Amino acid sequence: MKCPKCNVELVQTVRHKVDTQTCPSCKGMWLDAQELDQLENETFDLGEDEKGMLVYDAMPTTQPCPVCAARLKRFNYHAYALQMDVCPNQHGFWLDAGADDEVLKLMADEEHGYQRSVSAEAQWGRTLQRMRSGSFMEKLKDLFH
Ligand SMILES: [Zn+2]
Ligand SMILES: [Zn+2]
Repeated sequence: MKCPKCNVELVQTVRHKVDTQTCPSCKGMWLDAQELDQLENETFDLGEDEKGMLVYDAMPTTQPCPVCAARLKRFNYHAYALQMDVCPNQHGFWLDAGADDEVLKLMADEEHGYQRSVSAEAQWGRTLQRMRSGSFMEKLKDLFH
């Protein structure tokens, strides 16, 4: 496999416990979908639904997929400012140097967001419980009188 940018042979490297193919020249790396998923889960095991849609606004590039040589498409990772490339034939993802660290950072932020939404849900649960309680129903009835 060769780097889509430098045409240098990629070297298998373990980064954040994930097997990646890394370019010794530009330090970019190639991950297949499963490896990218592993990288995300290294920080926080979000379900696929919570992670949301991965690829937004894919734009064509001139760089070839190391597997099939189809032109990679550049996209915003989970609609964040972080950009990476994806093979249109789903062979994998090209991350620029340091993008894997960005993924971990974004996933850590996502974890905090998740915790926030869980506590908001708990609050909503309590609100519902109050609404179902007798006193609240009594108040409602009073309102409609
Ligand atoms: Zn390179
Ligand atoms: Zn491909």
